[in-house]
Amino acid sequence: RVAKADAEVQKLISRKRTKDADDRKVSSEIFDKATLQVLYKLANQGHLDVLNGAISTGKEANVLKGIKEDGSIVAVKIYRIATSDFKKMQYYIAGDPRFNVRSSNKRQLINNWVNKEFRNLTRLKDAGVNVPEAITSLNNVLIIEFIGDEDGNPAPTVKNLPPQDPAHFYEQLVEQMDRFINKANLIHGDLSSYNILNFDEKPVIIDVSQSVVRDHIIANELLARDIKNISFEFSKMGVDTSIEDLTNRLIKD
Ligand code: ADP
Ligand code: MN
Repeated sequence: RVAKADAEVQKLISRKRTKDADDRKVSSEIFDKATLQVLYKLANQGHLDVLNGAISTGKEANVLKGIKEDGSIVAVKIYRIATSDFKKMQYYIAGDPRFNVRSSNKRQLINNWVNKEFRNLTRLKDAGVNVPEAITSLNNVLIIEFIGDEDGNPAPTVKNLPPQDPAHFYEQLVEQMDRFINKANLIHGDLSSYNILNFDEKPVIIDVSQSVVRDHIIANELLARDIKNISFEFSKMGVDTSIEDLTNRLIKD
């Protein structure tokens, strides 16, 4: 069964695989047997037909492009068991009332972490925040809406493509952050130009696995860091802002 899943998914993966070095790295490093089975299951459920190249190879997760049978594109985020920061995961999950788990099982912890990202995305979307739509998640694999153009080019991060009109972009971002914090009642926790996509000059916030509810014991510490990062980065782009100014705009009570 495992061997079959392996072969099937490798076939799915390799059918359209390019000779790109990043691609080969992805298929040999991250697809342990259990992950292959998860991908196989997701393929069987119709969530994906072909894995078509790496979008990003991060510290803990790989983001790949998935093509569905109808030709539409999804983003597939796969957490690697081997390189995950379990101490951090445990610490963030332990203080979140939505997860009353005290598990130290590593796979269980990753599954909860992925589930947290899925639930955070749903909650943010419901609050009107511009995030990718959460489609499904299974164990260490998360499938979300692909943010990019019709030709399959992913939207660049703000880090890679700073906005043409930083002041206007910043105003839109503050509106998104306001909804994030005051409507969804979540704190991002890793907000910077690396985790904001520049999608046709509109901000799309990504990477919300570590985002915590506002009454989490580390929420204020994370919020202070997010505000510092954003005010610093946009000041550097020439926007008239400061930590104090951004704080006042986001925290009203
Ligand atoms: P990591 O934990 O590795 O930082 P991210 O969720 O930030 O994971 O994703 C890594 C990169 O993958 C992002 O910087 C972005 O370039 C790309 N990416 C993530 N999600 C999407 C998406 N939904 N659509 C297009 N590109 C994405
Ligand atoms: Mn990221």
